[in-house]
Amino acid sequence: MKRAVFFLVVSGVLLTACGEPAAKKVLVIGIDGVRPDVLAQVSTPHIDALIAAGAFSGAVVSEARTVSGPSWSSILTGVWPEKHGVNSNDLSSNNYDRYPDFLTRLELERPELNTFAVVDWPPLGTEASGGPLLGDTIDVKLTFDGEAAGYATADAQSVAAAVRYIGNQDPDAAFVYIGYPDVAAHEHGAASSEYYAAIGMADAHVGALVEAVRGRATYAAEDWLILVTTDHGHLDEGGHGGVTPEERTVFYLAVGPAALSGSPGESANLVDIAVTAMAHLGVEADPDWQLDGRVSGLAGRR
Ligand SMILES: [Zn+2]
Repeated sequence: MKRAVFFLVVSGVLLTACGEPAAKKVLVIGIDGVRPDVLAQVSTPHIDALIAAGAFSGAVVSEARTVSGPSWSSILTGVWPEKHGVNSNDLSSNNYDRYPDFLTRLELERPELNTFAVVDWPPLGTEASGGPLLGDTIDVKLTFDGEAAGYATADAQSVAAAVRYIGNQDPDAAFVYIGYPDVAAHEHGAASSEYYAAIGMADAHVGALVEAVRGRATYAAEDWLILVTTDHGHLDEGGHGGVTPEERTVFYLAVGPAALSGSPGESANLVDIAVTAMAHLGVEADPDWQLDGRVSGLAGRR
């Protein structure tokens, strides 16, 4: 049973029913290897509800090489590979010192913010393969091992940990990574029942995360922006790294009281995730940071 929440926007500032400015918070959910055209075919009631309520495009064409390392680097740092320096799943060529992930950037700008990340592809969180992409100044960073445990198992561990953290702690900015759909497509192809089932599992994870947000004791006094995206698609037979539409087409979803309804804007792309997440928290991109992303999908913004 969800609480009814009433929001009122006065002079662009979201107020709660009590008239207090709502506490801005952001949750970024990254799902690896989800083709938007397949997403549209699979029963995904939780993601569908977010799409219906927010700003969504399933026709975003990524400018990063269609490999996890460069693509997640672009999503999380807000710059394309020529700046972050990663062009494969060996992250050791990275310029993350110059272009840190958005949670690290938030810690640099607003150290009082509570930042949280949970991932199960090890390079995202650990020194594996030249990582971590996500910096060590993030307040709580958890890495499960999808390679060892299997991604279906590790994703469930990640999401359970995120649900606990969102419910029991007070995160201002969070990132949750879900890896299994990519593995299912590699092993069985993008038309397989296994891939469809993996996307269905990811949808259930999204539902659990949204429920955790909405179940927070202080939810009525908060202004959550939820961003959901993927890093690349897959060929029909499974596999990616090339330049076909099946590999390059990704999706962008922004939902919450601050988000637009309908389209996030024609220019919405992967590098906008980091910039939009920070902007929601009041951290506008400094031109000196030379970020490639722009704010996409927020009301009152372009
Ligand atoms: Zn990937």
